[in-house]
Amino acid sequence: MPELPEVEITTRRLGRTLAGVEVESTLAPGMVTMKTVDPPLAAIEGRSIDGVRRIGKMPVVELADLSLLVHLMSAGRLQAYDKRASLRDRRSRLLIRLADGRELRLREFGTKQRAWAKLLRSDEVESDEMVATLGPEAWPAPPLEELASAIDQARHLHPMLRDQRVIAGIGRSWVDEILWEARLSPYKKGSELDSDEVERLHAALPVLGHALEHYEEVIGDTVPDKLPMPLRVHRRQGEPCPRCGTTLEAVHFAEHVMTYCPQEQTDGRVLKDRRLSRLLK
Ligand SMILES: [Zn+2]
Repeated sequence: MPELPEVEITTRRLGRTLAGVEVESTLAPGMVTMKTVDPPLAAIEGRSIDGVRRIGKMPVVELADLSLLVHLMSAGRLQAYDKRASLRDRRSRLLIRLADGRELRLREFGTKQRAWAKLLRSDEVESDEMVATLGPEAWPAPPLEELASAIDQARHLHPMLRDQRVIAGIGRSWVDEILWEARLSPYKKGSELDSDEVERLHAALPVLGHALEHYEEVIGDTVPDKLPMPLRVHRRQGEPCPRCGTTLEAVHFAEHVMTYCPQEQTDGRVLKDRRLSRLLK
C-alpha cells in the first residue's frame, strides 16, 4: 500500500535511473487503466523522460510538456525493469518501453483493476481534479495553523487523515503510526481536538520523513515490491506497545486494520472489533 514515503522513494529512484532516457513505445494491457485519451499514450513515444516526481500519493512521470499522472491505488507498483515484460503478465497495466532496452512498468497486485493513469499537458496537471482537490502535503508537515484548519471537521481522525482532500499522502498504514505518535484516539473528531492535541498531531507528521530517511539508507537503485516499512504499531496488535508496553489492540475493517495502544490513545478502552465479535457468535 504505497503511501507518501513509499511513493517518494519510488519517484526518487525512478527519477535517478530514468532521467534522459527516451521512450520507444507504449502499451496499455490494462484496458481501463488510461483515464484520458487526448493526447493518446503514444504521444510520449520518442520523448525523453525529464524526471519523476510525486504529488500526494501519486507519481508523475514528466516528459517535456506532457505529464503522466499515475494513481497506484492500494496495490499498484511503478518500477523500472532491465528486461521487457512477458505480455502474459496479468499484473501489467502500462508498459513504457525505453530506447535503452529497459521498461517502466505499472503493475497491480490482486485481481481488481483500480490503478489508473492520465496523460496530461504539463500545464494542466495542477488543475486536474485529483490534484486540485488535494489538501496540503503531509510531508514536509504544513504549518501548524494550516493543519489545524484542515482538520477542524466533525469527522473521526482515522478516516479523515486518510482523506487526500484534507491532507495529502497518508493512508492506512501511516495513519496508525501518526495517531500513535500523537497519542490520539482514531475515533476522536478533528473538531474536538484542543490546541495541545493539534500540536501533538502536527509533531507526529515527521514520522513520514523518518520513514523516507530509512528508505534512503536501505533501498538501492531498485525499489522492491514489498518495502521494508519501519512501522512500529500498524498490524502489530497483540504485541507490546513500544512506548508503554500495553498490548496493542486492533479493529478490523473489510479492507484494512486499525491498530492502536488502548492505554495511551483510548483512555484504556478496547474498541469494539466487529470481526472479533462476529467470530465469537
Ligand atoms: Zn502505549
